[in-house]
Amino acid sequence: MAQKFTLLFCLLIALASCRPALLTVQETARRTTQPGSAPKYSDVCFSSRWERPRNEQDTLETFSSARSFHATYLNWVYTTNPDFIKKADSLGYRMQVALTPTLPDLPFGSNENKIGRIVNKAGQPVTAPWMKGWNNWWGCVNNPAFQEIYFAYIEEALKAGAYGFQVDDPAMGFLLLRNKWEDVCYCAFCRKKADSLGVQPPDIQEVSVKSFHQTMKKRAEELAGRPVPFSCNNFEGDWELSPYGEFDFGVAEIPERRANPEYLYAAIREARRNEKAQVFTFANDRDWLVQKMIAATYACGGNMLVPWDVWQGGGKDRYFGKPEQFAPLYGFVGAVAPWLDGYEDAFYATSQDDVRFIEDRNLPVSFEEYRRQIHAFVRAKPGDADAPVVVHLIDWHVLMEPFGIRLNEGRFFKKGIASVELLTPVPFDKTQHEAAEASGDFSALFASQTIDFQRDGKLLHLKIPKLEQHWGLLILRKK
Ligand SMILES: [Zn+2]
Repeated sequence: MAQKFTLLFCLLIALASCRPALLTVQETARRTTQPGSAPKYSDVCFSSRWERPRNEQDTLETFSSARSFHATYLNWVYTTNPDFIKKADSLGYRMQVALTPTLPDLPFGSNENKIGRIVNKAGQPVTAPWMKGWNNWWGCVNNPAFQEIYFAYIEEALKAGAYGFQVDDPAMGFLLLRNKWEDVCYCAFCRKKADSLGVQPPDIQEVSVKSFHQTMKKRAEELAGRPVPFSCNNFEGDWELSPYGEFDFGVAEIPERRANPEYLYAAIREARRNEKAQVFTFANDRDWLVQKMIAATYACGGNMLVPWDVWQGGGKDRYFGKPEQFAPLYGFVGAVAPWLDGYEDAFYATSQDDVRFIEDRNLPVSFEEYRRQIHAFVRAKPGDADAPVVVHLIDWHVLMEPFGIRLNEGRFFKKGIASVELLTPVPFDKTQHEAAEASGDFSALFASQTIDFQRDGKLLHLKIPKLEQHWGLLILRKK
């Protein structure tokens, strides 16, 4: 009998020791391959959609505006002016020149777009529904004359020092077909290619568009003698629709119906799983919503274009955000760059999570009480058990208040958490921002405070003060 008990006891001990230890956030964070030339997590992406001032009435200037938001990367710029591209390059900006299916005919500066265009069965050129009446006909990827126009734009930009390219409407003729806007393309080149394959011209559009983008990237890289990043407007951050997968990263419009942290997190996580990077662009009349979107996008590992020179649709004027509205957040990005770069997604919790069937005390972060809109994004250095861990806190409420959170310290460090520091953006001060931009020292653009905690076994209870600028970064250091 005693022997049996001893056996049973040994078995229980063995089972207990087999029980996996709690995974730490450094173990759940996955090292991902960021496309080398995509924006870094700490880049401030800025789009002057055209060179500004555009004319004598235009009071805006591209580079001084870029500086006022601490931009580091210039995206989605429609230009063929080598002097403008050279200036961006000389000021240290990586500039992406924009390409579209509607690039005008050569020589540069032409307002015509007739050469190498898609035609329907009746032999008429076509355009997208929202471009009707603009005389803006879409080019055919199988037409050598359009290929020549498209590559001429690439060549001119690269020679002037452009860093890469952003392609708007990247599905080109296939977009018109997929959305049943037009039955295309029946030009001589598409007909010939389709005939040789024994199919109809519309059947070859998707594969032709993919192959067009592959060829253009290859030719660009041969010319430049280096990798040349190509991004596209993958609307809403989608990576499933063709041909988004051909691109290194996305610079995409995100509509108001997607303006929430859950969507941002899911979309950016999906991009990272596909080894892509994601930049969003968003503008809205409500400043607080734009500010929360900027903060949450960075907290998820994406970048949000500075809301400046943004198309709003509906006959509204283009949107130009002001430094006093948004520079505090972008200055904060510069200030906390070491806590952004190198860190990967490890855990996400919101105060809305349904915890009726889980033991939320075991989660890395949990909340003291149900609240609608507090979001915590844990980011860690994969496999580095010693590096501090970062928890981005975003308060999505319109009326913000202090709130409580709990940390399970065994999820962060084997020997526990020694200290918690909270970093937050600070209110706008023009002089401080100018000094930071001039010196590269962003230390005046954030505030730091130590957060005390109460220990309850492995659980630490923290009281977070009201996040005046929507965003707070907790830095957890090991014992
Ligand atoms: Zn064609």
